[in-house]
Parts: sequence; C-alpha cells; structure tokens
Amino acid sequence: MSGIYVHVPFCHSKCFYCDFFSIANTTKLNDFVAAVEREYHARKIELNDDVSTIYFGGGTPSLLSPLLFTQLSGIFAHLNPEEFTIEVNPEDVDSEHVDTWLACRVNRISIGVQSLNNSELKAVNRRHDSQTALNAIKRLKEAGITNISADLIYGLPGQTEDSWKESLSKLIESGVQHISAYCLSFEEGTVLWQRRKQGIVKEASDETINNMYRTLCDYTANAGFNHYEISNFALDGFRSQHNSAYWDGTPYLGLGPGAHSLGCDGQRRYVPGDIKQYLQSPETAALVDEETETDRINDTIMISLRTAKGLDLEDLPEKARKCILANAQSTLHRGILRLECERIFIPEEHWLLSDAVIRDLFIL
Ligand code: SF4
Repeated sequence: MSGIYVHVPFCHSKCFYCDFFSIANTTKLNDFVAAVEREYHARKIELNDDVSTIYFGGGTPSLLSPLLFTQLSGIFAHLNPEEFTIEVNPEDVDSEHVDTWLACRVNRISIGVQSLNNSELKAVNRRHDSQTALNAIKRLKEAGITNISADLIYGLPGQTEDSWKESLSKLIESGVQHISAYCLSFEEGTVLWQRRKQGIVKEASDETINNMYRTLCDYTANAGFNHYEISNFALDGFRSQHNSAYWDGTPYLGLGPGAHSLGCDGQRRYVPGDIKQYLQSPETAALVDEETETDRINDTIMISLRTAKGLDLEDLPEKARKCILANAQSTLHRGILRLECERIFIPEEHWLLSDAVIRDLFIL
C-alpha cells in the first residue's frame, strides 16, 4: 500500500495566518502540470504499484481550471486508488468544477471553511463568506459527494467562545462527515505574526483556547464523530485514509515544490519550495532528507502521539524504548500520558499539551 501527494503551490491570495509553501500568482499553472507529469515518471520507482490513496493539496488545487485538473489527474489514470482527495476553497466550488472532479474519480473533498463568521474570515483574509461555504457544501452533497471533510480554526482574531460554538454547530448541521479543527498559530513571517507584533491583533488566552477545545470535543462527540487524531474528527467509516497511512509510516510519494515523501526504501525526500527551479528540472528536484536514526525515531514519537492509537513501543529498538520510558516517568505519573500493553498515548483531555509532552520524550 502507498499514497501519492501532489502539492499545488498556488493560491488566489495569501491568508494572513498561512505559512504553507504557496504563492499568490497563477501564471505558471500549465507549466506546473507538465512538470508534475515529468517528476512522477522519473520518481514512481520510489513506490510499489499498489497506490491506495491520492491527495491533491496545497496551496489551492481547486483553482486549477477543469481542463488543467483533468490533465493533472490524468497522470494517475492507470492507478485505482480507494480514496482520491482534493483540497478546495469554497469560492471555487461551482458546478463545472464539481462535475470535473467527479469525472476524474475524486471521491473525497476537503473544504477550507475555517469559520462560519464573516468578520473572523475577513480578519484573516479569507476570500469567501460563511454563506458561500455553506452553499459549497450543499452543492457538493447534491452532486453526490458523500465524503466531505471541512477545516475549521479556533483562536481566530475576534473569535469568541459563542461564535466558535455557532461555527461548529452550523458546520455539523451542514452534514459533513469529517472535521479537521486547528488551533490558530502565529507563524513567523506571516501577516498575522506581524500584526501581533504591532499590537493590532491579540492571541487568544490559554483559558479561551482550552474552553474552545473542550467545546470542540463535546460538540463533535455528541454528533457521533470519533476524535482519532489531535485535530481530526470523523464519523464511522470516514477517517482520512491518506493521512492515517501517513501517521502509520506507509510510504508515499510527494510531488511538486514543497512536497515531502517517504519511499519504499524508508528514505525521506523533499522537493524544495522553489517554483522556478522546479519547473526547470522537476525530475531531479527531490533531495534526500539526511535524517539520522534518532531523527527518525523522534519523528515517529511526534506523529504517533498525536493520534488516539499512540505509540507502539514494541516497534522500536530496545535502547530507544528504554529511553522513552525513562523520559516518560513524570508524565505517566501525572496521568498526562498512559501506558497500556506496550502502547503509550495521550488521553484526549490532555491533547492540547501534546507539544510539550512529546518534546520531553524525544531521545538524544
Ligand atoms: S488558501 Fe490555503 S494554502 Fe492558500 S494561503 Fe490560504 S491557507 Fe494558505
């Protein structure tokens, strides 16, 4: 089993919180699609043939015209993935695009809703409003798409606990099968980071974030969603297969500038975020990630402990296992971490502390 990820590094405009690799310029889309095809043919040997998931992320894959989307997905026409996801922005969901996505075998849509409050959306430079997002979900459902995931952000400028409850309730009511909810982070170099520095926006307090997280867990649980990763909630049968495989260490091939890969040989690679260089020589753009064995184990600790399943100590070398257990003593004692049958995990109520807990477990 393996997956394919295509990073489409173009957006209509930059959201104020975003530090993903993408540019607000769409003049090179044709060249990009041709380059991905060249890169794929040069690198497909990094995977076995059994590709079970394809994921087009970004950036904004939904800004590709129907013609370009058909060309890009056509590169993988010989594969039969069980799950084919595309990330879309609400303003791009018109019937022509939806028909194209369906014709190209897309069977899962991940839509960037972020909030259902217009002033919160405006405060972070999102292009859509709340009604556009709800209409987009309705249109996707009417077109027969039965696996829809929506992204939300809590801790947005101007957001209150009440407006968060309202966004969550409306989104759950809209009938999506999966929710990814992220706590806003102020990343260096973003407009939001600059605005906080200038005192124009304020970060939400820990208490507010805690309350919003509890609301998130309660509302989604009451609606039947399963909290299977720190930021991800799914109705039965609707977990993201692509991301779950990534968390399990399944190989995947990441194409496009800014994409990361894990080959069948266990080697991690990445394509630098440089569009000009990528378009010139996509076949040789990927570089080997020079990870040590320790880096690899620490990556596994970080990824696994963000999931409900947690980290299976039996999968690790004896020395690493002992070191992790020694590092975990204090958090195990305080109940922030639990150990059951050689598996350590962070209980849901402590997931907000996961960054600090995970850092303490890292081996040197
Ligand atoms: S649309 Fe997505 S990738 Fe593009 S700037 Fe906004 S958050 Fe970033």
